[in-house]
Amino acid sequence: MSRRDAILAEMGLTPIWRLKGQPASQESSFSTEKAWIELKQAVPACTACGLHKTRTQTVLGVGDEQADWLLVGEAPGAEEDRLGEPFVGQAGRLLDNMLAAIGLRRGENVYIANVLKCRPPGNRNPEPDEVAKCSPHLLKQIELIRPKLIVAMGRFAAQTLLGSEATIASLRGRLHQYAGVPLIVTYHPAYLLRNLPDKAKAWQDLVFARRTMAGL
Ligand code: URA
Repeated sequence: MSRRDAILAEMGLTPIWRLKGQPASQESSFSTEKAWIELKQAVPACTACGLHKTRTQTVLGVGDEQADWLLVGEAPGAEEDRLGEPFVGQAGRLLDNMLAAIGLRRGENVYIANVLKCRPPGNRNPEPDEVAKCSPHLLKQIELIRPKLIVAMGRFAAQTLLGSEATIASLRGRLHQYAGVPLIVTYHPAYLLRNLPDKAKAWQDLVFARRTMAGL
């Protein structure tokens, strides 16, 4: 590892780049790297909505910053707020199992993020104003990661990315697009913990996602 790479690794900024499809120019790789640094500074400093007053810390996302797979949830819960990583509570354990079922692992060609980067107190639903103020951070992540496929988990992720008010039930099972990136909608893992029969439908969605990815 070069000294520069070692310093970036120490700052938590690796892997630095990976060529995807068209070889990226060195200039564009550096500007992506710079944009990540800016985002990683902007999110913890964000006071755009009231959630900054009650958060322990912001939760930007976790995983491979050049991942083909991007999974998007709703907002950090208590454990995520405490540890600074998305999906580390009970819903996160289910998510890890769901990923394993299709041969994926957190952090390996997978990036996990939420619509909101701060925990809504008492795990209440995000308010429209909070989604509006926070979603630019998610959109920037998508622009930088350039995933091949987005899996939107739950109503807030699906509605935010698709600009739709439609239900999960009506959005599932079809290939959507966000800014030219294929997008699949499924249930949120926390919902599945409360609605066990719908796990079978989530499994169908994951198989659909895996098949879609195989063809991309
Ligand atoms: N639920 C989410 O939507 N995101 C998390 O990070 C944890 C639970």
